[in-house]
Amino acid sequence: MTGAGKTADVTGEGGDTISREVLAAEVQCWGRRIGVANRIREIHLRPMRRKWASCSSRGRVTLDPELLCRPAEFRARVIVHELLHLKIPNHGPLFRNLLNAYLRRYRHTDGAPGT
Ligand SMILES: [Zn+2]
Repeated sequence: MTGAGKTADVTGEGGDTISREVLAAEVQCWGRRIGVANRIREIHLRPMRRKWASCSSRGRVTLDPELLCRPAEFRARVIVHELLHLKIPNHGPLFRNLLNAYLRRYRHTDGAPGT
């Protein structure tokens, strides 16, 4: 996850805590929105050292349980990023465009100037 490294990002302290089921449901929900729901085979929660989540090309999504106590927009950013990799394996312009498009409603949290 370029640009959203775990140590660099200190936003999101004090969010509501959700259950694993809710997090998994969010993954499925974004999967439908992005059009990759049928490619998600497994959703795992496992503490990760360097990043928040990973997604294998075979549809295995792994999420750090710490996400359960992060705000919804933070979770969305992590989930959308990983699920987009089921469509686009790199971080090229198309990837960034799609990521921004899906997350537009959360734009204000990115520190980008509002337009
Ligand atoms: Zn990535």
